[in-house]
Order: sequence, then C-alpha cells, then structure tokens
Amino acid sequence: MIPRPPANRPQLGFLFLPPFRVQGLSIAGEESVVQVPELDICFDLGRCPRAALTSNYAALTHGHMDHAAGLAYYFSQRFFQGMGEGTVICHPKMADPIHNLMKAWVDIEAQRTPYNIAPLGPDDELEIKNNHFVRAFETLHCKHSVGYSVFERRSKLKTEYTGMPQEELIRLKKGGEAITHQLEIPLVCYTGDTMWGPLFDRPDVLNAQVLITECTFIDPEHRDRAAVGKHLHLDDIVKLLDRCTSKAVVLTHLSRRSNIYQARQRIDAAIPAEHRDRVFLLMDSRNNRARYEQQARDAEAVAQP
Ligand SMILES: [Zn+2]
Ligand SMILES: [Zn+2]
Repeated sequence: MIPRPPANRPQLGFLFLPPFRVQGLSIAGEESVVQVPELDICFDLGRCPRAALTSNYAALTHGHMDHAAGLAYYFSQRFFQGMGEGTVICHPKMADPIHNLMKAWVDIEAQRTPYNIAPLGPDDELEIKNNHFVRAFETLHCKHSVGYSVFERRSKLKTEYTGMPQEELIRLKKGGEAITHQLEIPLVCYTGDTMWGPLFDRPDVLNAQVLITECTFIDPEHRDRAAVGKHLHLDDIVKLLDRCTSKAVVLTHLSRRSNIYQARQRIDAAIPAEHRDRVFLLMDSRNNRARYEQQARDAEAVAQP
C-alpha cells in the first residue's frame, strides 16, 4: 500500500447570472472569496485564488481570518505580476490594522509591496467604474462588519419632458432647467456574514439584481448555533425570499458539515416552489455546471438558428 495523494483544492464555484458572473469559494470558517468580474470587484479574500487577482477592488466585509487572510497575497501577486496596485475597500476601523499588516510584511520579506486602502463607512459610496458605485452598509456579525451593494447611477429624462424634440431639450438644458433626475439601479449586493437585521429592510439589498448572502446553517436543530455565531439560518432565507425582488439569490458560507447535495434538497423542501428557480448555491458545482452547459447550448441555438 502506498499513501494516497492529497485531496485537490475544491474548484471555484461559478454561476453566470446575466450579465454577471459570480465565482469563488465559500465555506464557513474556511474561506470566502466571491468575485464579480464584470464589476471589477471581489468580495472578501479568505484566500486568494488566481482569478481574484484580476479584480482591481477587494471589498472586505469583516476581519475574520477566513474572509481576510488572502489580502496580503492579493497585493503581492498583483504587484509581482505587473497588474498594478490593488485597492482594498474596508470599514474605516480596519484601515490601520491593514497598514500594520502590510508593514509587518515589509519586515518579513525585506521589501515593500504597494497597496491602496479605500475606507468606506456605513452608507458611504465609492465610484469603482463609470457611474458604478459601491456602498457599504452595517451588518450584524462582529465589530465593524459591513456588507456592500454595487449600483449604477443613471440620469433619466423627467417624465414631463419625454417626447420633446431634441433641440428643445438642449435649449432648456442650456437655460439651466433640470430636465433629468438621478436613478439608482441596484446591481449586486453581498451581505457577508450577518444575522437577520435592519439590512434586510434596505432597498439596495432587497432590490439588487443579484443578492449574494450567507446561509451558514440549514438544519432545524441548528437555529441556536446560527444565533450564537451571528449567522443566517435557512429560515431567514425563506423570510428574505418573500421580501426581495432579486432575480437571483446566491447562498454562500454553508458550513462544511452540510453535504452540498443534501443541502440543496433541504433548501428546495423549505422554500416555496415559486422561489426555487432564483435560489442558487455557489458551491453546488454539479447543478451549476449542468445549468451553465444548458446556457451554452441555448446561446449556440440563438447564434445558429
Ligand atoms: Zn465567515
Ligand atoms: Zn465571520
């Protein structure tokens, strides 16, 4: 008998929820890293898979090691591979500890890694690409924990001006008339770790096209554990589905104890049938792959009728 080779790293979970890709790894207590390439952002960096390097922004929800341990590596690899300085978005209280972390690495490595910190307090905003903003909001998990919503801000013609000839609109605008108003379109929201709370009353959370949230516990007998660790339980997700308009709700941060296929069965049994098609499990690789293959076939059929 010879020893077995070590277990492979789990593959990155992947979902194509048009127009967004949601990809990463998320297992409670081990690592969480969830990237949305189209928005140039990666939420949390429990470790730093290669794919995560391509995001110019890394938004940390809180300081637990399984959400933050990949940060120094992210900065270092981006620099090493000539990808420019990465920027971490974090609660303002996390800025100093991150400076200290990067300073410690200067002593360990005897070289300096460039990095940026963009502190973002609850309800502060930062523009991450043209007209696309990220906003932090308070969550209920640990000290200084936050979630993030990404939205687009568009100027829209006020209804009283619709149908008016272009020249007339230009004339009014030049005359100082406010012919447009600002519209906020919630795109993606990532709650990070949290228990149930006022965040689930927020329009930028409930109306995000893609809502990525945690669901650490599934078993009915684990409600107490969820409360103690300040996490969500499947019961909370059932409540959430009635409130949110999201076309996709992506569940992450399942505990390692839950077998993913049994978890999917339990979730399907717990949530009303009308919500089932919009609930996804990031780490459900079998179902997610089958779904993606179907999407690819559909796209091909459209391309070659
Ligand atoms: Zn966690
Ligand atoms: Zn945590």
